[in-house]
Amino acid sequence: MIRVSFSSLLSLTALVIAATALATTAAPAPPKAPASTAAPSPTTTPTPPTAKLPPPTIFPAPGTYSNTTSLSLRDEVPGTEIHYTWDGTEPTASSPLYDQHEVLFIEGVYDGDKGLRTDHTLRAVATKGGMAPSEPVTFSYKIERRDRTAYLAEEVAPGVRMIRDSDNDKMFLVRGSKRFALIDSGMGRGDLRNYLSQFTGGLPLVVIFTHSHGDHIGQADQFIAQSTEYVGAGDRDVTADFLQKHGATRGQIASHLKTVTDGSKVDLGDRALEIVTIRGHTPGSIVILDPESGNLFTGDTVGNNSNLPPDVLWMQGLTYSLDQYFAAVRTGRKLLGDRVKLIMTGHNDRPLVGTAYLDNLEAALQRAMDEGNEALIPSYRPQGLKQIVVGDRLTDPNWFGINVNAQTFLPAPRDQIASLTLIDLQGATLTTRFTSTNHDYKAIVKGSGPITIAAMPASSRVQSLTVNDETVQAGTPVDISFKGKRDVALITVTAHDGQTTDSYRVILSR
Ligand SMILES: [Zn+2]
Repeated sequence: MIRVSFSSLLSLTALVIAATALATTAAPAPPKAPASTAAPSPTTTPTPPTAKLPPPTIFPAPGTYSNTTSLSLRDEVPGTEIHYTWDGTEPTASSPLYDQHEVLFIEGVYDGDKGLRTDHTLRAVATKGGMAPSEPVTFSYKIERRDRTAYLAEEVAPGVRMIRDSDNDKMFLVRGSKRFALIDSGMGRGDLRNYLSQFTGGLPLVVIFTHSHGDHIGQADQFIAQSTEYVGAGDRDVTADFLQKHGATRGQIASHLKTVTDGSKVDLGDRALEIVTIRGHTPGSIVILDPESGNLFTGDTVGNNSNLPPDVLWMQGLTYSLDQYFAAVRTGRKLLGDRVKLIMTGHNDRPLVGTAYLDNLEAALQRAMDEGNEALIPSYRPQGLKQIVVGDRLTDPNWFGINVNAQTFLPAPRDQIASLTLIDLQGATLTTRFTSTNHDYKAIVKGSGPITIAAMPASSRVQSLTVNDETVQAGTPVDISFKGKRDVALITVTAHDGQTTDSYRVILSR
């Protein structure tokens, strides 16, 4: 795959920034040149030639790609229209008009399992009233699809091999001293088990599925007879159905398909991988932490930000409000603590370094709660949906996007949001995991040290947050150590409207 150089990205961004700056200052249109139907008198100076528009630019750069790719056309002059053709003919003002909210897809195609090579020629011209059209510009692309039976592998971190199927879905093979873990199994149609055997040196393999979508459990049937397969409890039925449809016996599924939840460990010999659940993308979505290396394997659980095509966290199917996912993310991050060093998603081409990506995810969820519909912009993919984006996809490796269900993403009108997204105890442990919809909890006190509680509302616009009637700051721990009868923490949120309230109760016991 051709890689777009950083400098070309930078120059493109500079153009986009320049265009944005010009657009916001809204320069008045230049006066139109006088009509020149009358024959000029010999003393009139000739009309200066009309300024010519620069040609459109494109992202990503022309070249060869292995997968369906999406093209974005840009022009540095604000108010410019870009027209394009695919058939090689010269584009004119009457050719199809490019919509800046869309991307143009060039598809990779198969003949059965055979990947085909396709050539695509996009020609584009910039037009604008009062200016001369640009020179037409030609962008040429090749898509060379891998066969559906083919895989690619590369070591992306010590002991971690990223495997791609023909659709570039990512799987990870993680080496342990006694066994390997395969995280997800892609959607390909090749002999994956045999392909992986070249890397495992005869050691056994366990499989962990981040979730039960087809591009992540696609070859699960190849491993179930000989390996244990682990999946989040909420995704077990879908995975079992898939296995059964692909020839696994009931006995194999009953004895080899196991569910995992918060704190579950998958032993690799020298260390164990840890499971944290983050429900949302699917009911059983999990992330997998290697505590030794700080590698976090996330599938689609916290989304991805693949550029080509512009892929984001798919939550458009969510039938409940996003504050519940927000709570799952915040509690999940508390469980992970500060141990994450690299994030390996199901669709990013490279590991994401650090946790800025997760910060941007939280920023997007916060915008959903605080800005409501005003945070939504048209989605690139699938078109017709709404999404929230934090950061610039062309320049920021940690940009984040989320497709939302515009009907259900808010728990209440924006000014009435009073739910919590986190209860964090120190010195005591909740007996059930926090969710924004459960209002009653028990907590077991550990040791005799101080007990503190911190709470985070879903909306940062709430009017007040109290613990046992004392006003507290969002996220700041306050002491609730046993003081006689004071064995209950009552957290009350008053929404921005000053009227709507929501309360959560934690009963402490030893
Ligand atoms: Zn996926």
